[in-house]
Amino acid sequence: MRITRRLEFDSGHRIPDHQSQCRHLHGHRYAIEITLQGDIILLAGSPMNGMVMDFSEVKTLAKQCLVDAWDHAFLVWRGDTGLMSFLENLPGHKTVVLDVIPTAENLATVAFKLLDRVYRDTYGNHLHLERVRLYETPNCWADAVREEIRK
Ligand SMILES: [Zn+2]
Repeated sequence: MRITRRLEFDSGHRIPDHQSQCRHLHGHRYAIEITLQGDIILLAGSPMNGMVMDFSEVKTLAKQCLVDAWDHAFLVWRGDTGLMSFLENLPGHKTVVLDVIPTAENLATVAFKLLDRVYRDTYGNHLHLERVRLYETPNCWADAVREEIRK
């Protein structure tokens, strides 16, 4: 069984080598859809009975691990040196430094690797992260899928 929880956050970015608009500093209302796979828990009397994972727990872990850190932050590639030094000179600015250019594809991959550590099989139902879908806009998104990420 697969379950999905969607969360949204606002972040700034730029794609330094992009041919058109995305090389400028700007922001997006990003959305992330976290898909977990596992067996349905069969534990009579448990609040988890009939679930793969409680949706509220999916959200809590995603916020702790990623969403609260990225929300209202600027996502910057470490190699974008001019922008890095600009952001470092803004006192107390919320900046997330990445080893990759912040495209939807790369952000989905980074998010998958971060989130993969937090969704653990604590109920013996083979729970694991299966897919992260990251929307840069409502019409543009990237999927990081387990079988591709773990190669
Ligand atoms: Zn953009």
